[in-house]
Amino acid sequence: MGDAQHRFDWSNRPHPRLFIPGPTEVRPEVLEAQAELMIGHRTEALEALFARVQAQARRLFFTQARVYVTASSGMGLQEAAIRNGVRERVICFINGAFSQRWADVADGCGKEAVRVAVEWGQPITPDVVVQALRTHGPADAITVVHNETSTGVISPIADIAGAVRDVAPDTLIFVDAVSSLAGTPIYFDEWGLDICLTSSQKALACPPGLALAAVSDRVLERAHTVSGRGWYFDFLLLEKYLQRNTTPATPAISLLRALHVQLTHILEVEGLDARFARHRELAEMTWAWVRARGFDFFAAEGSRSPTVTAVANTRGVDVNALNTFLRTRGMVISNGYGPLKGHTFRIAHMGDTTSQEMHHLLDTMDEFLATT
Ligand SMILES: *Cc1c(COP(=O)(O)O)cnc(C)c1O
Repeated sequence: MGDAQHRFDWSNRPHPRLFIPGPTEVRPEVLEAQAELMIGHRTEALEALFARVQAQARRLFFTQARVYVTASSGMGLQEAAIRNGVRERVICFINGAFSQRWADVADGCGKEAVRVAVEWGQPITPDVVVQALRTHGPADAITVVHNETSTGVISPIADIAGAVRDVAPDTLIFVDAVSSLAGTPIYFDEWGLDICLTSSQKALACPPGLALAAVSDRVLERAHTVSGRGWYFDFLLLEKYLQRNTTPATPAISLLRALHVQLTHILEVEGLDARFARHRELAEMTWAWVRARGFDFFAAEGSRSPTVTAVANTRGVDVNALNTFLRTRGMVISNGYGPLKGHTFRIAHMGDTTSQEMHHLLDTMDEFLATT
């Protein structure tokens, strides 16, 4: 990587290169797709675009089911999941800030949210889920975050889903995969998930503003029995329009164009397997750096995220000073989330980051450490 320094002289740019867990850096080709001239939304051109994106999105989620693409961030679809799929009670498994959100959303929608918390840094395990279903069931659904961006923990969704199916087959399985989808495989059909949602601005490396959710037939059946589904995120209404390759309200046309360009890159140019392997490689580079520099991991061993590392700041580095230094070199990482600020810092290795770029970040962090 000797020439990496020369290839990336970001220091004189006004824009810091993003190594934060969202929004992630967006490639120029994707940004430029948004600058195309506008079209009407009730047109064949829009329907053709929508149909292409729909086919691509199904490949991304490994599903034959539909994928709703909404003009919202990911939280819009957490709310949609609760409003469409929960009649009364939902069990929310909490191991960080974003899994906590599921419960807050359920509260906000007037549903009964049973909170089952494990220590931050730990994954949600099938055992915890089975135990909770026995204690607090029956429930209309469970919620879980695949990749807790606040702690850098990934939970075993396939095993969790299998366990739910065994002990409570009527309970729907809602998964937030905002910071993992497109960075690590999620086999929606094979794992038997009911809703799996993501945002455009994380591992997908698109601009913020779109959310995607694969939704099972079981959820649509459930939705018929749930009142107060609202209008904008009513799955039955979205489904009716999806059949005609469009949406009930005006879609975010420029963002859809950007998504289409990026999905074409992911599926046809890079390839999903190569993309997952690259995320793995970037994670391992980061982990090796963490170990070699005498830091530790916030996430439990065996549950470390392939897309974001929460570094336990065992060396007591001044994280703000580190980021100030990185900014002078044209890049930025994230401090710890909420209560973890200062105690951890987070390095995102998701999206379209290359190993050369990752090396450059890690080398630059070494320069900072050498000054402390
Ligand atoms: C970023 C994030 C969210 C919030 O997504 P928005 O697109 O900001 O609504 C939810 N869950 C996880 C795991 C996240 O990383």
